[in-house]
Amino acid sequence: MPRFFIDDVPNGVSVNITGEDAHHITRVLRMKAGEMLTLCDSRGNDYICELESSEKNNVTCKILKTIPSVGEPSVDITIYMALPKGDKMDFIVQKAVELGAKRIVPFIAKRSVSRPDEKSLYKKCDRWRKIAKEAAMQSERGAVPQVSDVLNYKQAVDEAGEHELAIFLYENEKETSIHSVLEDKIFSSVAIMIGPEGGFADEEVNTAIQGKMQSVSLGSRILRCETAPIAALSIVMYESGSF
Ligand code: SAM
Repeated sequence: MPRFFIDDVPNGVSVNITGEDAHHITRVLRMKAGEMLTLCDSRGNDYICELESSEKNNVTCKILKTIPSVGEPSVDITIYMALPKGDKMDFIVQKAVELGAKRIVPFIAKRSVSRPDEKSLYKKCDRWRKIAKEAAMQSERGAVPQVSDVLNYKQAVDEAGEHELAIFLYENEKETSIHSVLEDKIFSSVAIMIGPEGGFADEEVNTAIQGKMQSVSLGSRILRCETAPIAALSIVMYESGSF
C-alpha cells in the first residue's frame, strides 16, 4: 500500500494532501477515490486511509484506522559519513534508511577527494534528503531519517562523541572488534563514523579517540567506504535486537 508522510497529527477523520505528494498520488500512481493508502505522522502513528477525492494538487483522505508505526528501531543510530567520490553517498543514504538509521551526517575528511562548493553542497544535501524520504516510504519507516548539513571533521567528532556509544570505524584497528564493543550491551544511541576512500589520516584518528570515540575493526578485510556503513549498521541493528 502506498505510504506518505504527513507533518502534523490529524485532528479529525479527514486529511488533506497537497504539493509533491498530491502530484505523486494523482499523476504518478493515478490513484482514484476508494483506493487505500497509509499516512505516517513520524510520531509513531500510521493512518490507514481511503482516498475520498483526488484533484491534481489536492487529495483528501479519510482515516479508517490508526495503528502504531512499526518501522522504527529501538536504538537511535546516526551515520557520520566522510564525503565519498561520485554518487556513492546517494547509495549510502538509501541503504542507511532501509537499514534503520535515524540520522545521516555527511562530513569533510582530510582525504575526502570530493570538495564541492557551498552551492553544490546545498544541492547535494537536497538530493540526499529526497532519497531519504523515498527510501523511508519504500521501506515503510515510521519517520523520515534526517540528512544533516555537511559538517567539518571536528564538528562531526564532537557531535558523534555525545552518543552513548560512538564507533569509529578504523581500517587499521587491530585490537578491538565491533563484536567486542557491542556484545551483551544495550545502547539507546549509537554513532558510527566511516572514512572516505582514502581512509582516515593519523591526526583524525587521534582527534576521534580524544573525542571519546571507540576505534573499532570490521575484520581483516578492507571494505569499500560504501560497504562499511552498511555492514556496521546491520551489525548494530542485529546486536540491538532490531533484526
Ligand atoms: N585507505 C584505506 C586502506 O586502503 O587501507 C581504506 C579506507 S576504506 C576504503 C574506507 C573506510 O571504511 C575506512 O576509513 C573505515 O572507516 C571503513 N573500513 C573499511 N574497512 C574497514 C575495516 N576492516 N575495519 C574498520 N573500518 C573499515
